[in-house]
Amino acid sequence: MSKAPSPFLVQYLEIKERHNDALLFFRMGDFYELFFEDAQIAAAALDITLTARGQHSGEPIPMAGVPFHAAEGYLARLIRLGHRVAVCEQLESPEEAKKRGYKSIVRRDVVRIVTPGTLTEDSLLDARASNILVAIGLASGGSEGGVALADVSTGRFEVFEAAPENFGEILSSLSPKELLLSESAYARPLISDMLESLKTAVTPRPAVKADKSSGERQLKDAMGVKSLDAYGGFSAAELSACALLLDYLHLTQAGEAPRLDPPKRYMSKNFMSIDPSTRTSLEIDVSAQGGRKGSLLHAIDCTITAPGARRLADNLARPLIDLDVINSRLDAVGMFVSDRDLREEVRDFLKQSADIERARMRLQLGRGGPKDLLAIASGLAAGAQAANRLRAGIAGLPVLLEEACQSLDLKLQTGLGEFSDTLSAAIHEDAPVLARDGGFVREGYDPELDEVRSLRDDSRKIIAGLQAKYAEKTGISSLKIRHNKVLGYFIDVTARNADAMQNGPHAGDFIHRQTIASAMRFTTVELGELDGRIARADGESKAREMDIFNELVTRANNLSQELRTAADAMAAIDVAAALAHWAEDVKAVRPQLDDSTRFNAVGARHPVVEAALRKEGEGFTANDCILDADGKDAPRLMMVTGPNMAGKSTYLRQNALLAILAQAGCFVPAQQFNLGLVDRVFSRVGASDDLSRGRSTFMVEMIETAAILNQAGPRAFVILDEVGRGTATYDGLAIAWAAVEHLHEKNKCRAIFATHYHELTDLAEKLSHAGNASLRAKDWQGDLVFLHDVKPGAADRSYGVQVAKLAGMPRAAVKRAEDVLLRLEGEAKKGGPKLDDLPLFAAVAEPAASFEPSAVELLLQDLDVDGMSPREALDMLYKLKLKL
Ligand code: ADP
Repeated sequence: MSKAPSPFLVQYLEIKERHNDALLFFRMGDFYELFFEDAQIAAAALDITLTARGQHSGEPIPMAGVPFHAAEGYLARLIRLGHRVAVCEQLESPEEAKKRGYKSIVRRDVVRIVTPGTLTEDSLLDARASNILVAIGLASGGSEGGVALADVSTGRFEVFEAAPENFGEILSSLSPKELLLSESAYARPLISDMLESLKTAVTPRPAVKADKSSGERQLKDAMGVKSLDAYGGFSAAELSACALLLDYLHLTQAGEAPRLDPPKRYMSKNFMSIDPSTRTSLEIDVSAQGGRKGSLLHAIDCTITAPGARRLADNLARPLIDLDVINSRLDAVGMFVSDRDLREEVRDFLKQSADIERARMRLQLGRGGPKDLLAIASGLAAGAQAANRLRAGIAGLPVLLEEACQSLDLKLQTGLGEFSDTLSAAIHEDAPVLARDGGFVREGYDPELDEVRSLRDDSRKIIAGLQAKYAEKTGISSLKIRHNKVLGYFIDVTARNADAMQNGPHAGDFIHRQTIASAMRFTTVELGELDGRIARADGESKAREMDIFNELVTRANNLSQELRTAADAMAAIDVAAALAHWAEDVKAVRPQLDDSTRFNAVGARHPVVEAALRKEGEGFTANDCILDADGKDAPRLMMVTGPNMAGKSTYLRQNALLAILAQAGCFVPAQQFNLGLVDRVFSRVGASDDLSRGRSTFMVEMIETAAILNQAGPRAFVILDEVGRGTATYDGLAIAWAAVEHLHEKNKCRAIFATHYHELTDLAEKLSHAGNASLRAKDWQGDLVFLHDVKPGAADRSYGVQVAKLAGMPRAAVKRAEDVLLRLEGEAKKGGPKLDDLPLFAAVAEPAASFEPSAVELLLQDLDVDGMSPREALDMLYKLKLKL
């Protein structure tokens, strides 16, 4: 018979039961221990030893542990591997437990669940990326959607409405680390389909957690208000998303939910829309290889501060469609472009600042330390210096910078100013991470602390004097006074001198404490007293330091909003100065935006490809692209031909990136760029199999092309590359042909269409608002030379065989290909499909207005379906079939 489980095991199992979906870090003294399956998982994941402790149901209990002081590193690894970790602490000391009764075990409970979307520790976070937790809510039977978003590490909180069919697009723009949704939403095909393509940890929650009235209540609690009117009305779906989000924060922070900033409200339609596949193919913030390197963001990011880097990433992920706001961002960049010295001086100040945003949130969550206070102090000081320098340098700053300077002006923001002074006076520059280590409050800040410290130091000085006195008294010159945690201060003599101590003339003064192999240890009444005094003073000084620390944390928490505004302001200055720095570096210019539908890029370049070529010492050929959706002065659709490797997709992408950069408020790598606002960018460039979802290259291509033809409006900007390439030649040509006509006649938007079907270039000439352009290559003494420049008119040849030769195809195969090509071209001249006389799309697209009903239709019309027996129905089917 197995024994009843020990009280300890009962406690463990009870807590584990409540946190079944997480690994349980169970605090035991200086270790976090994991048991049962958790131990096996952790041992394998962390490469730590798997042992056993006690038994359960006759079996040994597997156990693995990590030291408490090194837990953060292990946590980070587990989170990166996709685990969730529930951290269970001891809530009282063993002595306190004993006081409650014989056999009582220490009370324990989970104080926090660490999940990818709720991290705050610097060591677990990427300083230059946001750490976003998103919840999506549905209402009205799933036809309305809402999104709530929080970054616990910075306090950012946003709530907005979004149509459920746009969730994919919105989530891809936010790149959340974790997504919450109700189990019922999770089961919906539309949603589960969308989630498959997202690389986000998804946490389905019980449907009751998405209740809108609970969302309203929690939102009011979180904001400390009685009514939500001040934030504008919230829709049912938004409240449902808030319910999911706030409840989860409560759960993971074990009731200590972080104080989020007041929710920012906006409409998702305020942003340029970029669907997930477009975002991926344009490599906006992640490159095709999966990292940040090689992305547009990486190429342009010259920010200095972590909040600045996060702000720039956010700006680029969500370009705007409001002219005024875009221009205010551009004004700020423009000012920094025009005054280089000022800019670089401001950037130098920013270099000295730390991450105020995250320090502020850690303090608020009770996870902060003296280093976080220091971060705020240095951040505020650097911000104030940057702002002063800016104001002194330029009269009449652009609005965005003027506002930022005001938020950072410590004479104006008196609360922040006083706090900054206090912090500078209070905290040591080399403060430790943890407050309980003490020693971080500066001398002269607090008289009481100075007094206990001097008591302690005096006693230490006396002790230092005692060593000489005792050495002389005993004649043992090697006698030392040492200190350790267990004994406190003690007299240490080598084993050889032990006899002289114990039997010498002053033996009565020395009290034996400990004998170890090489030494013997003693104390004296005097030393004992001094030791006690020092220990007390030490305790008192640490306690006093904790009080001071807590006071300062409270002050920081009371200034939370001001600190956030200051951090925001610094991020704004950093982003504008960084973009100007980049603009100067790559010779980028200010884009001119308006309400027209033109796209006029002169001498434009691809920022990422150019940067890569520059590293190799090669130049990039700049190109123009002139389009207008109204088709009056320029074509709305441009067909681009040219050999493989000539630079077609680079050209397509660079134009799409120009529009995104411009509307994100960045300068653009071009000589000149005039842009009528774009509301959506679509890109179908480069084919990739999506085999994990069972889709072939061709299927993916068709789905994406269909999405574009269905959705692109007159303000869209579309780039399409090699549509139809993935299927048989005539199928592909037919599809590409139809897509071009549809774009030109129906979508009527600005579009660039790259193709290797030379037949399509004739089509461009037939369509009234389409044009041809080509990327040139030259046959130079039998070798192919790419010029990478775009010229009007179609390419004369495709040079496919030369490209194959360049790629290193065996000579015999190249020769054979040349022969086959000659034959095929000869035959094509004789026959082949004739597309010249195909009527245009507009003529065939609409069905004929009226026509005679057929015999089958007439029969069907008169049918009384409800009055038929199954047998009669079957007969009728046969009859109908005969009429066909
Ligand atoms: P295509 O789509 O025509 O096959 P790509 O756009 O993929 O060609 O370009 C092939 C390579 O040519 C690029 O990787 C780049 O190195 C180079 N390239 C493209 N455009 C340019 C340009 N404008 N100037 C210089 N090099 C270029």
